[in-house]
Amino acid sequence: MNKIVEAFLVIVGVGLLLLGAIFIIAGAVDTIIIGGLMVLVAAGLFFFVYRSMKIEAAKPTLVSQTFNVKMEGSGTFQEKEMKCRSCGAPLTEKNLKIIQGGIMATCPYCGAVFAMQEQPKW
Ligand SMILES: [Zn+2]
Repeated sequence: MNKIVEAFLVIVGVGLLLLGAIFIIAGAVDTIIIGGLMVLVAAGLFFFVYRSMKIEAAKPTLVSQTFNVKMEGSGTFQEKEMKCRSCGAPLTEKNLKIIQGGIMATCPYCGAVFAMQEQPKW
């Protein structure tokens, strides 16, 4: 859910809670009922926001999707796509260094360093 909507609901909930408390403190029978209803609605709002936040947190992050292995064995040899192995950010030749005969890549986004291995030729 939208963070702005969540914040808005929390603010509305707090407002209702305070208003409800004032109504209850005010004392007359009908205002106590209205105040009680306001507090209940506020509690419902808080519960709704809390639940939606939990659902949001349970969602898998998109990071894992960048690790999808392309299974295009034979056929035309496509230009090798270089991606960071830890965050999936695209890498350019500027991020590559030749160290001890091996090609090392440094991710400009997350700082991960790893060896670019040659893909096996079928
Ligand atoms: Zn990275």
